[in-house]
Order: sequence, then C-alpha cells, then structure tokens
Amino acid sequence: MKRHSTKPFARIAIVAFFCTLLMGAGTAFADEQSESLEASVPTAVAGEHVTQDADDATASEEDAPVITVERYAKSQDADMASDVGAMDGDVSDPTLTQGEPVEEPLEAMGTLETVDMYRLYNPNSGEHFYTGNWEERASLVEIGWQYEGIGWVAPDFSRSPVYRLYNPNAGDHHYTLSSFERDELVDAGWNDEGIGWYSDDTQRVAVLRQYNPNAKTGSHNFTTSEEEDEALADAGWQSEGVGWYAVSLGNTAVATSYIYLDAGHGKGSSTKGVYDSGAVGNGYEEAKLTAELVTLTAKYARELYGLKVYSNVNTNVEYWNRQEDALERGCTSLVSIHFNASDSGGTGCESYIHSRNAAPGATKLQSIMHEYLLNGTGLRDRGKKSAALAVCSGVDTDLPGTLLEVCFIDNSYDMKKYKERKDTIARELAAGLYEAAKDGF
Ligand SMILES: [Zn+2]
Repeated sequence: MKRHSTKPFARIAIVAFFCTLLMGAGTAFADEQSESLEASVPTAVAGEHVTQDADDATASEEDAPVITVERYAKSQDADMASDVGAMDGDVSDPTLTQGEPVEEPLEAMGTLETVDMYRLYNPNSGEHFYTGNWEERASLVEIGWQYEGIGWVAPDFSRSPVYRLYNPNAGDHHYTLSSFERDELVDAGWNDEGIGWYSDDTQRVAVLRQYNPNAKTGSHNFTTSEEEDEALADAGWQSEGVGWYAVSLGNTAVATSYIYLDAGHGKGSSTKGVYDSGAVGNGYEEAKLTAELVTLTAKYARELYGLKVYSNVNTNVEYWNRQEDALERGCTSLVSIHFNASDSGGTGCESYIHSRNAAPGATKLQSIMHEYLLNGTGLRDRGKKSAALAVCSGVDTDLPGTLLEVCFIDNSYDMKKYKERKDTIARELAAGLYEAAKDGF
C-alpha cells in the first residue's frame, strides 16, 4: 500500500482545505468533535495498542487513543472565535481567488500559545506516538509505553493542521499535512482521526520525516534532530524531508536519562552486611526516612514523568562504592538523599557537590535539585555547598552527583514540617529529576 507522499504539502492546498472546512465540511468536523469529546479517557483503549497483534483486524475506531479532545474543545472556545472569524475573512479576501497563500501568521493577531508534543515509544510494536495531552502521555506510560520526551513544540493553533490517521489492520498511526494524502489513506481503509496538532505557519523548525520500508508498524519517525535523521538514514530508513514545522526544537534527553536515586545509609552503607541507621533524633532513624522518601520520589518520577530511575535502598553497597554501582548499572547521574543533624539546633535544607572531584555538570544538577528541594520542604535555604563527600565524587566515574540534606532529623520543627509535607517533597523532587533529565542528567 502506498501510504505516504514524499513532498511537503503545498500551502495553497491548506487554504483550500480551510475553505472546504468552513463552507462545506463544517458539519462533519463538528460531528467528529462531539464524538471525541464524549469518548472516554484512553487508558483501556490505549492498552489495545500495546497488545494489539499486527494482523489483528478487529480493531474498531474506539481503539484509537483520544488525543485531540482538548484542542478540539479549544477551537470552539469563544476566545478562538475571533481567529476563526478572521480566517473566514481571509477566505473571501480577493487575493485568495488569485491563488495567493495567506502569509500573515496567526500569532500576529495575538500571543502565540504553544503545545509540547510528547513522544512515546511502544517497544512491542516499534511505533512512536505523539500527543500534546499530558494525561494521555501518563496513561500510555502506565501500560508500558516508554516516554521519550518532547518531540517538538507545536503552535496551539495555526492555518496548517496536521491530520492524524489510524490503520486498524496494522495498529499504526500516520500523520500528514496533506489533505490529499489523508484522503488517499482513508480510501485505502485508514480511519480519519481528525487534526492531531498544527504546523508552524512561519516554519521556524523543520520536523523531519523518515520512512522504514521494512517495518509493519511504526514505519514513520518524526524528529527535529538532524542527527537522528542521519542516524536513521544510516540504519536503512529513507529520509523523506519535512513532515511539518514546529515552533521550537524538541528535547528527547529524558529517553536516555537514568538517574541513580540513592537512599543515604541503610544496609551495608559503612560495613558490608551491617545496617547503618545514619543520624537519629525525635524517634526517627535517617536510613528509614531516606528509604521512604527515595521510594516515594522514584514512584512519582516513574508514574508522573515516565522517567527511568534506579532506587538504591538497603542494597548492601558501601556509600563510597555507590558511584561505581551507578556506573555499572548504566546510570547517567546520581542524587543522594540524606537528613541532617546538628548539636546546635540547625534548621532547613542544603545540598552538596564534591569539593574537589565533582564531575562536569554537577553544579547544574545541584542547582536544579536544590530549587525543587526548597519548594518541597518550605524550610530555610542553607545554601548550595561543597564538601569531600564520596557519594558525590565523579573522579572515577564522571557521573554528576549531588547530595541533598532534606532537613534536620533532630529538630522537632523540621520533622513536623517533613511529616506534613512528605508527599509534596517527593512530588517536587520527582519534578526536579524530570528537569534534570531534560537537561541530560
Ligand atoms: Zn546522612
């Protein structure tokens, strides 16, 4: 089946499509929209995509995850009406009857809103999937898709819609700017799933399209990275040029991030096989607190952000060997969680990097995590510090590492705050790990 054209879509055809949309096909659009709005959230639905056999021809329209609900709804909002009205005016513009494309970008009419387009990968089918809906991303991660970060940044709306199609026989999606290609595919049995997102009218960043002639599903890939485009070409894919345009570049660094989240102290930390409680105070043991907070933070990092995180909790690895352990596991950075103690009534949170052997990037990692730690605890900022702490040393591993002292275990005020805000702290730290992962840690 021929299922893709190799040329970027001509601008005049977009205008032609809008004319059709506004004058003729408006009803069909509205019907499809209400269908999308009524459809349930894609948890169960999307599961079928993961388990679906490539030859399974029983898939129905309901199988497709609903991705454009929010944007469909938005295009009907009162605040969008003026844009649509303006386009209506453009359609009757005499220049258009001469076949002139519309040059004025929509953003000239107001502030440009953008949408991060999340990229996911299905290891079973090899398909990449893209959605601007954060919750849909999360529900796909939950059922086994791998989150690969932001594929590109799309305009919230433009004159150039990108159509989304679904092949119920192959269980595969396809995306195109071309209404001709869309219609061709529909004739060939694909389901028209409406507008997936929009292309940037001012063509700031090209989203490059590649085709894998050997793949049954996942036969197309889309990326803003020229390096990825070239790497795929080297691996036998066919570069197909520009698929559509983005407002700004994507960021898929999270796909390769694997943060070693270390619970300070615990079993074997100081002596193999021996439990090291760390500091004690107010009836608490540091090792128990770090184990609890690391476990909760890792859970949120995985569930909310789809991050790959290794939790080092009571694993009988000495603290000075945790950098090496992280390296052996293929981790890309290390964050160690501790609780402070003081004889003189200290309060607040602080962070450390190694004073002599910090790996490149450690300062940046520290800054990111420090900020989120402060947001989480709401306690006094004791500052970003450095000390000769072995767990932060990147001398043999080159791994950026930072150590966070959450609060003072022997300060009842700090511990009261900690108990109250434990969930918030874990969520903030997970958000910090996500920021770090996007920065390549
Ligand atoms: Zn400690």
